[in-house]
Amino acid sequence: MASVSSKPFNPFAMAQAQFDRVAEMINLDHPTRELLRQPLREFHFALPIRMDDGSFKVFRGFRVQHNDARGPHKGGIRFHPQETIDTVRALGMWMTWKCAVVNIPLGGGKGGVVCDPHNLSMREQEALCRAYVRQIARAVGPLQDVPAPDVMTNAQHMLWMLDEFERIHGAKYPGFITGKPVGMGGSVGRTEATGYGVVFTIREALKELNLRAKDTLASVQGFGNVAQYAIELYQQIGGTVVCVSCWDQEDQTSHAFYKADGIDLAALRGICDRFGGIDKKKAVSLGYKILPGDAWIEQEVDILIPAALENSITGDNAGKISRRVKLLAEGANGPTTPDADHILQERGIFVIPDFLANAGGVTCSYLEQVQSNINYYWEKDEVLGKLDVKMTSAFIDVSELAKKNKLFMRDAAYIIAISRVAQACRDRGWV
Ligand code: GLU
Repeated sequence: MASVSSKPFNPFAMAQAQFDRVAEMINLDHPTRELLRQPLREFHFALPIRMDDGSFKVFRGFRVQHNDARGPHKGGIRFHPQETIDTVRALGMWMTWKCAVVNIPLGGGKGGVVCDPHNLSMREQEALCRAYVRQIARAVGPLQDVPAPDVMTNAQHMLWMLDEFERIHGAKYPGFITGKPVGMGGSVGRTEATGYGVVFTIREALKELNLRAKDTLASVQGFGNVAQYAIELYQQIGGTVVCVSCWDQEDQTSHAFYKADGIDLAALRGICDRFGGIDKKKAVSLGYKILPGDAWIEQEVDILIPAALENSITGDNAGKISRRVKLLAEGANGPTTPDADHILQERGIFVIPDFLANAGGVTCSYLEQVQSNINYYWEKDEVLGKLDVKMTSAFIDVSELAKKNKLFMRDAAYIIAISRVAQACRDRGWV
């Protein structure tokens, strides 16, 4: 995990601290606090896989079901070498708030496998996907828990998982999983949705800040799916990205790529691997300046977009953020620690919190489920139009509450999300 802090980082402790703070602010009753600060249930399992060389290797898998008071659990499955149960717990809890803040009828969950897909063949990855589904086949499903892609998983992984689920249950269940390939039950626009959603919220925030996109510069952490599509739409609305950073698998560290007159997205896409790792030598020949990975945060820009992993803006590096920065749009889940939040708040930086900014992915997953259920698939304009409406109205709800009560945007988003989930729990008679 991209850790630059000297303190040990526990994402679940951070998610709970964020929750406790807001539970206190809204005077949430104690039984509801106890219910919501822990997952409802979780699964830990072994995934024995026959490798291509004939040997067996045992991987570890997790699925955390945080809360389903508002609808089936929903959330991605990550493949990551440093995956931990506490990371998956935090991400599962954030999914509950994410679905609630955009007001879609879904709960929260998350899955993970401790593995590095850089070192796995496609056949080994397929075996891992199928084994994962066999381990939880009775606890997931379209009406229980609906997985999706996340860090280092994609539409192909989802299709293998769907196929295994359908073999086990002996029928077609396209609503079991989202982020499927288009033509195989997937929705057009799903691949772009998270990154585009980030920019829908940036567009709204710029209106509040009285800024025009074409007058702004941005620096982005990450060059995976979320970052690439966020850059694509941000450039389309007129913005200029001067810096992107990404993980270098060969050097086992990250690098930042800088170009004063703006990066060329198509050119960088042409020289990166399927995980968004940009080829350094080719980038130099295209005129990019190579900087240490952390340099993305120090750039003289108006907008910072962390779109990599959790724990990237901490008490240790938030002080390096340039005085010019006015807006932070969290494409990643959990990129900012509470220590860093204090600094951002003092500096008056407008923060679009993760579970609002990056809710486009799950919102489009919901639209995918609706299309799968009616077995009729919309055109891209219709999908992206509906996504824009959902994201924009969620942004407006949060920013109006923040303005009315002079709240930090993260707190306003939490108040809306927690109140909705708590109400659903009470209405069901759970607490
Ligand atoms: N993995 C994405 C997220 O963190 C999308 C989840 C989904 O579509 O269910 O929001």
